[in-house]
Amino acid sequence: MSDERPDSAEAIGMDAERWLAAIVESSDDAILGESLNGIITSWNAGATRIFGYSAEEAIGKPIRWFAWPGEEGRIEELLRRLRLGERVDHFETIRKHKTGRKVIVSLSLSPIRDAEGTIIGIAKIARDITERKEAREALADSELRIRTMSDQEALARADLMAERRFRGLIEHAPDAILQVDTAGKVIVANSAAESLFRYTREELLGSSVDSLVPEASRAAHSEHRKAFAAAGITRPMGQGLDLCARRKDGTEVAVEISLSPVETDQGVYITAAIRDVTDRKQIEAKVRLLQKAYLQELEARKQEAERLNRLKSEFLASISHELRTPLHTIIGFSELLAEESEGPLNEEQRRFLEHIHRDSEHLLALINDVLDFSQIEAGGLNLHPEVLPLGEAISEAVNAIRPSGEAKGISMLANMDANISVSADQLRLRQILYNLLSNAVKFTPATGTISVNATPVPNERSVRITVSDTGIGIAEEERVHIFDKFYQVGVTTEGVREGTGLGLAICKQLVEIQGGRIWVESESGQGSQFHFTLRTP
Ligand code: ADP
Repeated sequence: MSDERPDSAEAIGMDAERWLAAIVESSDDAILGESLNGIITSWNAGATRIFGYSAEEAIGKPIRWFAWPGEEGRIEELLRRLRLGERVDHFETIRKHKTGRKVIVSLSLSPIRDAEGTIIGIAKIARDITERKEAREALADSELRIRTMSDQEALARADLMAERRFRGLIEHAPDAILQVDTAGKVIVANSAAESLFRYTREELLGSSVDSLVPEASRAAHSEHRKAFAAAGITRPMGQGLDLCARRKDGTEVAVEISLSPVETDQGVYITAAIRDVTDRKQIEAKVRLLQKAYLQELEARKQEAERLNRLKSEFLASISHELRTPLHTIIGFSELLAEESEGPLNEEQRRFLEHIHRDSEHLLALINDVLDFSQIEAGGLNLHPEVLPLGEAISEAVNAIRPSGEAKGISMLANMDANISVSADQLRLRQILYNLLSNAVKFTPATGTISVNATPVPNERSVRITVSDTGIGIAEEERVHIFDKFYQVGVTTEGVREGTGLGLAICKQLVEIQGGRIWVESESGQGSQFHFTLRTP
């Protein structure tokens, strides 16, 4: 099989050929020789054991015969490498046993050279590793199986844990939780359900859920339950209704219930979360009571305020009446005295009498204004709006003021469209006009002019009435204040004891409660224009 003779063989002085043949024959491994083109040249007993063929059957056959289908290419590859002088160790490949079964071998190949070093053949040792391989595969397989199995076990455990966690959640939920089967039997109840209904869990499980509903609503509940299971939607139960649950001892407890259907193989089960809302209901009732008490208190205060206001108005009305009566007497008698029908007065007496008369008139005006203003502020002014021909109202006011104006040498004019009507309280309109006109007379020197104009406001159902004078005017810094109560412009009223500082404040109120506006245009020394608007019908 080989020309090479190991030195050790010669060293021990044995017949090298036989010694070698003995080793080859006794080897468990297949030891064979091949030509460079893959023809088997020698075949030991090990090869027969491993591949099933006898030496006679194998020698002379191409090595490809023994290849497992699909492995032929690897034989060619090996032959190529060996022809190039390469050694190949522990090359795993599959061969076919004579019986057709698979033989897995680990090959070690080395080229055989002649004395000149030329490669002339191949020496091959093939070790059967089928069992080892199969054992290893079986082991890997079983390891894999074990791993898969344990994965499944882990999965089952995770399921179990989830289930346990879920049960734990339900068990410790603050709300009572019940699950009811299609027949209305309780199949799950948590500890909150035990304390809410005061039944033990054993008592709850298997009982009809209808027994947990007050008798009065039991029949309706059973109907609702069936309808809900049929509809199969999650919803709060009896929204906006006052629901009650019945305890074991027959007492009732206010609850709020939310339901959800659970599809099972046995039909739709219903899970109910039931919350005891006694505390909340009590708080709500308390809040309602407080609210009611608060509203009552508010109403009582409002009525008291109204009563006090009425009292104030009544007091003012009566006091002004009490004040006006003696004032009228004073004014009347001072006028009588001034007529000198009871005898002539000397210069001084006449002067004293004029003082009495003028101050009494002033006091009367003051009392009237205060009464008016307090009535308006108390909301106690009753208006009687009517459709009025504006022209008439203005002429009347101008005519009433004319004497005092003309006494000062002031001309009085009224220019307006005779057809304009307003919707206003006649008495109060007259009061506004009097106030503005008498102010105009008061603050306009001799030879001045006072005029009243009225023009419809474009795009508005209202009319603008303007009282203009050519008087002393009002400085800018004063203009913003003159509609305030008791405001009088210092310089203009110096030494003038007429007026109360209430006239314009009253005008403003009277205009505004009739839905109009009032404002002034003026320059110091240039006269003033007081404008106000009123609604037209
Ligand atoms: P009074 O009773 O003092 O007239 P008003 O409220 O009617 O009170 O007027 C407030 C102040 O506005 C007056 O004191 C005066 O200083 C000023 N005022 C009112 N009308 C005119 C006017 N036409 N021209 C100049 N000043 C005026």
